[in-house]
Amino acid sequence: MYTGFYEEIHEEFREVVREFVAREVTPHYQAWESAHMMDRSLWLAAAENGLLGLAVDEEHGGMGLGDYRFRMILDEELARADALAVSLALHLHDDWVLPALLKFGSAEQQAAWLPRFMDGSFVSSVAFTEPGAGSDLRAVRTKAVKNDDGGWTLDGQKTFIGNGISGDGALVLARTDGSDVRQRGSESSFSLFLVEKRDNPGYQPGRQLEKMGLKASDTAELFFAGVQIPHANLIGEQGRGLDYAKAILPQGRLGIATSAAAITAEVLRQTLSYVGQRQTFGHSVSEYQNTRFQLAELQVGLEATQRYVAATVDAFNAGELDLVTASKAKLFASERAKASVDACLQLHGGYGYILDYPVAQAYLAVRLLTIFGGTSEILKETIAAELG
Ligand SMILES: Cc1cc2nc3c(=O)[nH]c(=O)nc-3n(C[C@H](O)[C@H](O)[C@H](O)COP(=O)(O)OP(=O)(O)OC[C@H]3O[C@@H](n4cnc5c(N)ncnc54)[C@H](O)[C@@H]3O)c2cc1C
Repeated sequence: MYTGFYEEIHEEFREVVREFVAREVTPHYQAWESAHMMDRSLWLAAAENGLLGLAVDEEHGGMGLGDYRFRMILDEELARADALAVSLALHLHDDWVLPALLKFGSAEQQAAWLPRFMDGSFVSSVAFTEPGAGSDLRAVRTKAVKNDDGGWTLDGQKTFIGNGISGDGALVLARTDGSDVRQRGSESSFSLFLVEKRDNPGYQPGRQLEKMGLKASDTAELFFAGVQIPHANLIGEQGRGLDYAKAILPQGRLGIATSAAAITAEVLRQTLSYVGQRQTFGHSVSEYQNTRFQLAELQVGLEATQRYVAATVDAFNAGELDLVTASKAKLFASERAKASVDACLQLHGGYGYILDYPVAQAYLAVRLLTIFGGTSEILKETIAAELG
């Protein structure tokens, strides 16, 4: 980010993160890409360094680092190490599932789950999307039916679920009003559950989905067949699931916006270095007016993104981030990242197309950012609705 955005305490935190990434991520990243999955060692090491559940308060054993600038340092350092899949996996855990527990979990649920979120023993997924329900969550068909003993039986199917194979459980959006799943539900048809894979044979990850990028993170289908959920795992009130999902969206979208800004900055930095070294016609590529004009435009675009994202982070830190503001930041930052990385790839010539080059990996990674967590089109609908 730009000079003056971070304070000394953040830069001290950066040292911890940089050392963690160098020791626990970089040496293993290629192996994780080949395996299409990270090792649990990543989560355990992150836990040991206090990097999971930054926002968890001291009462629950956390550090209470609710200032989102700490989170951004993780994004920046992982982008610097070209380990973008780790960033995605951590965001799902910390910016989607954890906020649901922190905002809507009962005192008992927080006492039971928060330590496991932070010690790496419960790696979580967010399981909203289904084959027939992505943008339109009211089309979710997975249903939970109340048992005589007060618990719930869950049946259904989810797809595109990050950490779906490697993780230990998921925050699941399910219908709980008994409505006909072939029809769209109402606002109060759904509830959220924290569902554990352990001791639940009906909870089965399906096949690993072959993504175009971010290969070191696993993304899968999930199948629920008669999964038993204790009533204690219902988050908040029955029928409020969609409200809760919407309430965690601002943080989820903020995390995508900050990732986008971090990737844009890192790829531009790498490109500046590349064009300075690459020679054509007896000149370095950086000498051509086209290159200099391109780089100037990319730099202005980056600074605009950073300032816009920073204002959104300020709103989050002040407890004032609403859905529309977060949607605007995600829309702007992710679309800018897509365009900027594309332009940087072009400046690499043929090498930009070769996967050994980080710019090619980044190109494949940023393509997700305008889709996941709300497509750009859905974000525009949200923004336009407020305009009237
Ligand atoms: C790699 C990856 C990881 C993911 N991880 C997760 C995860 O961990 N957990 C999870 O729950 N989900 C996850 N998702 C799902 C992701 O959030 C959805 O793919 C996304 O919300 C879009 O839903 P969809 O794929 O069903 O597209 P659709 O909703 O079918 O949309 C198809 C197209 O139609 C457009 N469209 C839809 N409705 C409208 C409208 N009203 N107006 C204008 N245009 C519209 C969309 O913008 C899009 O261009 C992941 C997806 C991917 C690809």
